[in-house]
Amino acid sequence: MTRVLVVEDEPAIAESIAYSLRRDGYAVQIAGTVAAALRELSAVDLVILDLMLPDGSGFEVLGVARRTEAAPPVIVLSSRDSEADRVAALETGADDYVTKPFSPREIVARVRAVLRRAAKGSAQASNGAPPSVPLSADESTRRATVHNRQLDLTRVEFDLLACLLGAPGRVFTRAQLIDRVWGDGFAITDRTIDSHVKGLRKKVTEAGGDPGLIETVRGVGYRVSDRPSGSDEGDA
Ligand code: CA
Repeated sequence: MTRVLVVEDEPAIAESIAYSLRRDGYAVQIAGTVAAALRELSAVDLVILDLMLPDGSGFEVLGVARRTEAAPPVIVLSSRDSEADRVAALETGADDYVTKPFSPREIVARVRAVLRRAAKGSAQASNGAPPSVPLSADESTRRATVHNRQLDLTRVEFDLLACLLGAPGRVFTRAQLIDRVWGDGFAITDRTIDSHVKGLRKKVTEAGGDPGLIETVRGVGYRVSDRPSGSDEGDA
């Protein structure tokens, strides 16, 4: 049974998340403090993490989670107005975030998606995206397609697409994209990233792809949608 650790000090929120996950077949433990979370961390498969805890910051838990051998994926809970925290959490290694207030259904969908990506990453089963994503970027041939139609991309557009397709559904911050596409030490502005993504999205659209395939996550960054277009949270 997949074990989920819910790190949240507000009992009503913790219980409602736990209830939904248990109903969906997960084993759930709740920790209300940083100290309790650190004790449980090595024995779980996924962590849902509130950032504001009574004895410290969720970032402490996130840092330790990234360094443990099991390195369980982490989904951060953040309040609506803490955009900086969301970006910082993703850059510290969080796998996804959910903004409060959220529906239990949304949490369950994110948990499933993150676990699916984690399983795929460790198995290194297929190259590229799940079948629901009609985009591809083959790094060996530098060939990119949407709905099997070839895309004529610049080097940067190709690298951006390949990076995003490395983890469909995962949000990449602009800093992460700059790091992966240009590498360290390049003075690339957020606006430069945005204009390359705009160019990429235009080519995808012109080739018949949905403009929503490459999603802008407001204030945070970009991701390739891993949901069939038109559905809301996908795998219900
Ligand atoms: Ca809290």
